Amino acid sequence: MIHRTKTRPVKVGNLTIGGSNELFIQSMTTTKTHDVDATVRQIERLEEAGCQIVRVAVPDERAARAIPDIKKRIHIPLVADIHFDYRLALIAIEGGVDKIRINPGNIGKREKVEAVVKAAKERGIPIRIGVNAGSLEKPILQKYGYPTADGMVESALHHIRILEDLDFHDIIVSMKASDVRLAIEAYEKAARTFDYPLHLGITESGTLFSGTIKSAAGIGTLLNMGIGNTLRISLSADPVEEVKVARELLKIFGLSSNAPTLVSCPTCGRIAIDLISIANEVEEYLQTIKAPIKVSVLGCAVNGPGEAREADIGIAGARGEGLLFRKGKIIRKVPEDKMVEELKKEIDMLAEAYYQK
Ligand code: SF4
Repeated sequence: MIHRTKTRPVKVGNLTIGGSNELFIQSMTTTKTHDVDATVRQIERLEEAGCQIVRVAVPDERAARAIPDIKKRIHIPLVADIHFDYRLALIAIEGGVDKIRINPGNIGKREKVEAVVKAAKERGIPIRIGVNAGSLEKPILQKYGYPTADGMVESALHHIRILEDLDFHDIIVSMKASDVRLAIEAYEKAARTFDYPLHLGITESGTLFSGTIKSAAGIGTLLNMGIGNTLRISLSADPVEEVKVARELLKIFGLSSNAPTLVSCPTCGRIAIDLISIANEVEEYLQTIKAPIKVSVLGCAVNGPGEAREADIGIAGARGEGLLFRKGKIIRKVPEDKMVEELKKEIDMLAEAYYQK
């Protein structure tokens, strides 16, 4: 684990965000929140993929009133995403939500802000301030001319002060922008300016392909600086894909304690097996495993045995067959059509041993 920027700890359901705690993966449902069955089904798939906090859109009263039913049927903290309407925030809080995302400066009259803060305090739930480069307050935009990192920090401080004036400090802040370099600068400045936990995200980052690259570039840079306490990869895709990408990113930076790693070669003219299909099948299977197992799938005997030996379990291809390695030792030869099956068995055994620890 690398050094993480120290922040104030904030409780969200049964998790503590910030402080010296691990980074948590968040995602957001794409269903209509008032459709409880569909929403719960999607959250179950997200949980299964490794999502640790889930946010739902609360655009109207039907959505806000669905919160208690959703909450009853899921196992991870639930966040309500609310814009402007303080009554929806009150209904969501009353319904047992674990965090709300609302910008206090957009709620309106002071009594309304006070009502939301009072309810959040009574229930012990935090408020996330979501600064977005695309919706900065007019005076800030006029001051800077266009969205800048300084303007975004100023916006965050504006909302933070409203809450602090009401003696409310269970605050989490996000500084999202679709421009990766702007988001990095804004988060970096925010981390230096206040000590509230930061929720990382590159907003509207795009499709599974381009959004993954954009998010990896932006969030990866921040993770490498030790910045960030929760993260969401925003993709125009099934949100389960967001969780998969987030898990990979955390693994890369040594911030995930229970995720498996797959090493596979790019293949070349020496390839002796159908490695691409095997690697994809194994990768898919590893999505279900919650243990830090390193699996290597290499195409031939040139680099194969060396890499495979470094892994907990590995295969190095030869013509129509492969050498199976476990913890550096050759266990046996397996025919190509049995490779995936044999690897899965070995992965299961290693995972079981890890779960029993
Ligand atoms: Fe080529 Fe073998 Fe290296 Fe794969 S492991 S890239 S097949 S040399």
